[in-house]
Amino acid sequence: MIDLQMHSNFSDGSDTPTALVKKARELGLTTIALTDHDTIDGIPEFIEAGKSYQVNTVPGVEISVDTKLPNNGHMHILGLFIDFNSKELKDTLHFLLNERNKRANKIIQKLEQLNVPITLEELHAEAGEGAIGRPHIAKIMVRKGYVKDISAAFEIYLKKGAPAYMDKVKLEEEDALKMIKNANGLAILAHPHLMNYDTFEEAQDRIRSLVDLGLDGLEIFYSGMPQQYTNMLSKLADWLDLAISGGSDFHGDNKDKIKMGSGLGDLAIPDELYYNLKERWEKQYL
Ligand code: AMP
Ligand code: ZN
Ligand code: FE
Repeated sequence: MIDLQMHSNFSDGSDTPTALVKKARELGLTTIALTDHDTIDGIPEFIEAGKSYQVNTVPGVEISVDTKLPNNGHMHILGLFIDFNSKELKDTLHFLLNERNKRANKIIQKLEQLNVPITLEELHAEAGEGAIGRPHIAKIMVRKGYVKDISAAFEIYLKKGAPAYMDKVKLEEEDALKMIKNANGLAILAHPHLMNYDTFEEAQDRIRSLVDLGLDGLEIFYSGMPQQYTNMLSKLADWLDLAISGGSDFHGDNKDKIKMGSGLGDLAIPDELYYNLKERWEKQYL
């Protein structure tokens, strides 16, 4: 079994890249991908650990796309098999990271006004070398006793529409796809059901437009994706000749219900998916 979406402490996961590989080894997973949000800085460690623990590793990244979707939906695109030495990729991610830091500063200012102050030092200590995200802020707020848990921090302060919310600077879908493809990656639409379209037809139209822009595939195995949705996406992938991927979206203790490999309990992603993806990548780039 494999797992092609997970996050390390280089973004908003709780495990180091090495700890992820170690866990995969213990679980008997054969191939895993590291797909941190907006950063590839964890990949060298991830690959080294893969060699030590004899787990096959895929370098990846997860990019949030700037687009309007219904019902608070969001679009994330995964880059798999990316060349993490690509200068263009590094430069663009560096820009995004910088924007994230600016946004964190603004959130801190808002929290100060709301009488739940946290400092930049606390935030950097929490995020370590990683890309700062709202989960880091939420964790500090729990620790300081402002809220009872992470979801309360989001509900009361951090979610869209809440008083300390700030939009994140994101790439347009065209640019996100271009960045991934220029770095020799396969571009996969992550958790398509979370675009939150009311009907599958609308999601399908949107997927078709992404395919026209270079999308290579769909993540159809995913923690909590309704079985019916997986079935419909699977037919669509077949029809449009799209690659198929699957991942748990493991974040360690930061999302403790989701387990690596098995997701909410019933996920099992066959090795065959990895071989198909690899073959597709080789055809495109070798
Ligand atoms: P950011 O990249 O800073 O916008 O933060 C996004 C992260 O926050 C993602 O990993 C989400 O899963 C997490 N997140 C978003 N909403 C919530 C929520 N209501 N409760 C807990 N985590 C959330
Ligand atoms: Zn995440
Ligand atoms: Fe995602």
